[in-house]
Amino acid sequence: MTEPQTPLKPLHPTLYQLAEDGHSLDFFFVQCRACSGLSFPANVPGCAHCGDPLVDAQKLSRPGGGELLEYVTLHVPLAPGMAAPSIAGDVRIADGIVEEGVISASDETVLRPGMIVRAVAEVREAQGVYACRFMPADPKVTP
Ligand SMILES: [Zn+2]
Repeated sequence: MTEPQTPLKPLHPTLYQLAEDGHSLDFFFVQCRACSGLSFPANVPGCAHCGDPLVDAQKLSRPGGGELLEYVTLHVPLAPGMAAPSIAGDVRIADGIVEEGVISASDETVLRPGMIVRAVAEVREAQGVYACRFMPADPKVTP
């Protein structure tokens, strides 16, 4: 048996990339020069905090993840390839920036509002891509 050598591509290349550990995801942000706030993703047309047009603003990548605010179990797939049931949640990935994502957990009982989750790659070998999933950062919590 040999390992598949095809390099996987991000499902949403403007949003994230595989981190150096080969499992976590780094998110692409842009930092406003006017208010120094972070906006996501890096190609937004204006600062999410003050509306600055972000001309010449610095783009940066940070480990994806943040505080899990709320979540709900979905019993029907919202998109092709999405498993059901699955858990969708709102994650505060930076100050004032909340993104919706799929939470990788067996069920809601291992989750609680306010817990820290981190973004990891969900490999879809058949499509040659990886997608973004959030999983509890605490290793004591079994996903
Ligand atoms: Zn700003």
